[in-house]
Amino acid sequence: ERESLNEYFGKPTVTKSGIVKKVYGNIGKAEDAQNVVQNGGEGIGLFRTEFLFMDREHQPTEDEQFEAYSTVAKAMDNKEVIIRTLDIGGDKAIDYLSIEKEDNPFLGYRAIRYCLGNKELYKTQLRAILRAAQFGNIKIMLPLVTTVDEVKQAKVLIKECCDELENEGLRYRNVPVGVMIETPSAALISDLLAKEAEFFSIGTNDLTGYTMAVDRGNANVSYLYDVFQPAVLRAIKMTIKNAKAAGIQVGMCGEAAADERLIPMLIDWGLDEFSVTPSSILQTRKSICLND
Ligand code: PEP
Ligand code: MG
Repeated sequence: ERESLNEYFGKPTVTKSGIVKKVYGNIGKAEDAQNVVQNGGEGIGLFRTEFLFMDREHQPTEDEQFEAYSTVAKAMDNKEVIIRTLDIGGDKAIDYLSIEKEDNPFLGYRAIRYCLGNKELYKTQLRAILRAAQFGNIKIMLPLVTTVDEVKQAKVLIKECCDELENEGLRYRNVPVGVMIETPSAALISDLLAKEAEFFSIGTNDLTGYTMAVDRGNANVSYLYDVFQPAVLRAIKMTIKNAKAAGIQVGMCGEAAADERLIPMLIDWGLDEFSVTPSSILQTRKSICLND
């Protein structure tokens, strides 16, 4: 299996009709960047930073985060590294952050909502990312966005962090800010979000669940958790169309980006970047190369 895939290692990702795509890897730990390189990834399309915050007693310091983000930036040698800011809440609990128990955690105080409400915590992460950006091609991505205002607020905080770092004489680099499209709200206003975002990445794991109003862990309704449901396909198509109209890059970092049945549609609609689990990178490139 790996034999026949090896010919796709180090090869550009080009469809039969000659359109150049990118296959990136998803990671959860800084060390995983090596995995992406070894599997022929052209970048990192999703660094799930919550894993830096999980399974420990205290929140990671700015320097600890700086170290992790720098390691990834350097490992990727100027290839694109998309760092998603803290996506906690929902199913991802963190004891020391003492998030109140909620009746509906998936509809609650999580991800960018929590971060915008806890600015010191958020700024610590943003500063670490901006400082690490001097070592590579880092971009910031915002999770679970539902409004334009959330993006504006995050950008104000990033600007504040840049100003602070400047005043402190610390080295940093300002970076592009992108938005995850993983809620029906974000897909529906993707034309408006495209005015504030420098790129999109479609998170089909959450987008499918929220669009279909289904908990995939519930066996009675899990049959509805299906990216091929017309409502989910429409949300994806609309998002890509609005990104194209605004001239911004649009990728996908949910599991569906590696789905051979979906890839032809994603190519047809114009998706630019496919970010998948590192072990699926070569297979995904092969699928793209064998399609028009
Ligand atoms: C997604 O929702 O598709 C996604 C990539 O984010 P996560 O799986 O980390 O929620
Ligand atoms: Mg998600």
